[in-house]
Amino acid sequence: MTTNTWFRQIFPTGLALIAGPCSAESEAQLMSTATSLRSLGVGVFRAGVWKPRTRPGSFEGVGTKALPWLSRVKREVGMKIATEVATPEHVEQALQHDIDILWIGARTTTNPFAVQEIAEALRGTQVPVMVKNAMVPDVKLWCGAVERLQNVGLCQIAAIHRGFSVLEETVFRNSPLWRIPIEFHRLMPNIPILCDPSHIAGKADLVPIVAQQALDMDFDGLMVEVHVQPDSALSDSTQQLTPSAFSKLLGELQLKQPHSTNETALAQLRADIDQLDTSLFRLLSERMKIVRKVGELKRREGTPVLQSERYNQILQRRMQEAEALGLSSDFVKRIMEIIHEEAVCQQLPK
Ligand code: PEP
Ligand code: MN
Repeated sequence: MTTNTWFRQIFPTGLALIAGPCSAESEAQLMSTATSLRSLGVGVFRAGVWKPRTRPGSFEGVGTKALPWLSRVKREVGMKIATEVATPEHVEQALQHDIDILWIGARTTTNPFAVQEIAEALRGTQVPVMVKNAMVPDVKLWCGAVERLQNVGLCQIAAIHRGFSVLEETVFRNSPLWRIPIEFHRLMPNIPILCDPSHIAGKADLVPIVAQQALDMDFDGLMVEVHVQPDSALSDSTQQLTPSAFSKLLGELQLKQPHSTNETALAQLRADIDQLDTSLFRLLSERMKIVRKVGELKRREGTPVLQSERYNQILQRRMQEAEALGLSSDFVKRIMEIIHEEAVCQQLPK
C-alpha cells in the first residue's frame, strides 16, 4: 500500500475507492448513484462523459452537458469527481468544470501522440491524473504515458490496471495478465496503482473475484462501475454492479495486513524457496549444456534444429505429468514453451 502524500490526501486511509457508472446518462442517474455510493463511504465518484466506443453508432456519451451534473454531485453529495479525457478539448472542458481527477482511458494510452497532446494541455496544472494500461500487454506504453505526464511537470499520477485485449478467449472481457501490472509496479514503484475489476471481468458476477485478487496483489485501490439500473445502462451494462451488489462486495472484501505476524516462519519458507530456485537454475544450466551438445550433433549430421515431433512428445509428457506434481498443465506448457524456445536459439548458428 502506498503512503504517497497526494494520494493519501484524496484517499485518507486504507483501500482507495472510486465508483460510479460507466457513463453519465442523466442528471438523475448521477445524483441517485452518487448518493448511494456516498452512504457506503465512497469518496470519489466516476462517470464517463465522452465514451470511446469500439464501433461507431454505439452510445458515445452525452458529452459536455454532463459536466455540470458532475459538478452538482461534487457540490451537493460532497464527493470528488473523476472523468475520462481523451483530447486537449476534453481536458480544457473538464478543468473549467472543476473535475477533481482525470483519467486517460486504455485506448488513449495505446496512442503516444494522443497522450502527448493531453500532457501538453495539462502543462502548468497540478490536477491528479490516472493512467489506465494500454489495450495491448506492453508495459512500456503504460510507463511511457506516465513519463509524458511527468515530463510536463505533473506529480499527482496514479495507474489503473483494467486488463488487456488478448487473442485467446478467456472468462474475462480483458485478461488480467497480472505479470504486467507487477512489472509496471517494479519499474514505477512510486506510482500508486488501482485495479478496475469491472473492465477486466466484463460480467458483474466476476467483479468480486477480480477485486479480491487485486487486494491479494496489494493494489492501492479499486475503481468499480456502479449503476442504479445496470440492465438499462447505455454502455457496459453486463459488468456494472447495482449499489447493493457493490455494498455486498465491500462487506466481503478481505483487506490485507501490510506485514506478516510471523516473520520468522516466513523467512524460513523464503529461504527454502531461494534454495530451490538455485537448484532449478543449476538444472536449467545443465539442461542447456546438453542441448548445445545435441545442437552440435545435429549440425554435424545436417539435421534440422527444430524437430516438431520430439518437441510435441516432451510437451505432451510434461503436461500429462503436471497434475501428479500438483501443477496446472497450462503452467507446465508455458514453462516448456520458454525452455524449448531458448533451447532452439542455443542450437541455431550464431
Ligand atoms: C471506462 O472506464 O468506462 C472505460 C472506457 O475504460 P477503459 O478505457 O479501461 O476501456
Ligand atoms: Mn465502462
